[in-house]
Amino acid sequence: MYLSKFFVPITRNLPTDAKIKSHQLMLRAGMIKQSSAGIYSWLPLGFKIMKKIEQIVREEQNRIGAQEMLMPTIQSADIWKESGRYDDYGEEMLRIKDRQGREMLYGPTNEELVTDIFRSSVKSYKSLPQILYHIQWKFRDEIRPRFGVMRCREFFMKDAYSFDLSDEDAKKSYNKMFYSYIKTFNRLGLKAIPMSADTGPIGGDLSHEFIILADTGESQIYADKKIFEIDFKKYNFDNESLQKMREDFSSIYAVTDEKYNEKMFNERVKKANQIKTKGIEVGHIFYFGDKYSKPLNGLIDSKDGKKIAVKMGSYGIGISRLVGATIEANYNSEVMKWPKSISPFDVVIIPNLSKNNTENLEKAEKIYKDLKKQNIDVLLDDVDENMSNKFKKHDLIGIPYQIILGSKSEKDKFEFKELNSKIEILSLEAIKLKLKKD
Ligand code: ATP
Ligand code: MG
Repeated sequence: MYLSKFFVPITRNLPTDAKIKSHQLMLRAGMIKQSSAGIYSWLPLGFKIMKKIEQIVREEQNRIGAQEMLMPTIQSADIWKESGRYDDYGEEMLRIKDRQGREMLYGPTNEELVTDIFRSSVKSYKSLPQILYHIQWKFRDEIRPRFGVMRCREFFMKDAYSFDLSDEDAKKSYNKMFYSYIKTFNRLGLKAIPMSADTGPIGGDLSHEFIILADTGESQIYADKKIFEIDFKKYNFDNESLQKMREDFSSIYAVTDEKYNEKMFNERVKKANQIKTKGIEVGHIFYFGDKYSKPLNGLIDSKDGKKIAVKMGSYGIGISRLVGATIEANYNSEVMKWPKSISPFDVVIIPNLSKNNTENLEKAEKIYKDLKKQNIDVLLDDVDENMSNKFKKHDLIGIPYQIILGSKSEKDKFEFKELNSKIEILSLEAIKLKLKKD
């Protein structure tokens, strides 16, 4: 992609109503545009990053055997009346009437709808376990939408639902999902802490929030640094090992302010290991048994012929929120550096074009073609602008690697820079090795 042709409306103005870094940066880098309070359009740069996050989430869901589907955004109120949540959900639910006067709503979550799909098709224990998921827009009429994509009204979420015969089996599904979340956040370059959480309006008895540390988060966090030492790679994908993993995480102190107890914190965590900071919730998983299957008649025939309400869990990841959360976690003194796995491009070529330097542009185009042939996704900055402005712009866009064609480049060696590191002079072959995907 040539930057001159890329629809990326960068602005130097600091948006006045944007309070946190990620929001400011996403507006300045032309990633999103607000269309009304808490509702955004995703412009090409922001959309590309969000799609990469979505793809990693999808791959890790598929890997544990979850099956992708797609449910609609607009739902009928009837199933919500059956579960009893139509009234309980309150003003966050956007309610709509169609031309026949039927009550509809824009889905804030999908427990009812997926239970309805399940009850009409699965009858026997033989088809269990099942995990279904979709990645779809949700709407919650938040009282105070703020912080850009972090707390919006319309947001993009992955939500999965598990169906099992017994509590015991359901906990196995829960453990699989727990593992999948740790892995997903790791691939996104984030250190997410699983914290046991209250179940809130979704109900049930087992729940974890996945929280990343950032000064601008909405939850206050108290944790032991040791939680970051747990390496998910040492656990096998069998229930015994996954259960052990969950227990290992639970054995280390990590809570939000609702559960915080100063005395216990000081007793259990030595001073040097104490983390007291803010955090952003990027995922939330619940086990709630038959809370929805019972009122909705989601019944299955068990081995001995009895009808049993299927045991369910639900598992969300805020995909659009993750774009902002990743910025909050990685932003460092005016420089944004995307993790390689979700960077909008693998590398940017920045030729010095001052004084009509066509030679540098030609060189840049040659390198561009060469890298493209190797399936490397390249941005070429062909905009006629001085180098200092170019560098500022690329600190903002955050592509982690730059090839700079300036005074220090030689005939077949170029300046290569990883953001936040020193420039090296390297051949194109050496650069390709550096860019190789992990
Ligand atoms: P929060 O506590 O932040 O209000 P929640 O507990 O209501 O979130 P869940 O129902 O658990 O959210 O939704 C799953 C995930 O969806 C959350 O972990 C979060 O990442 C994301 N999410 C929830 N609400 C929003 C929102 N208003 N804007 C963007 N993402 C959201
Ligand atoms: Mg939550």
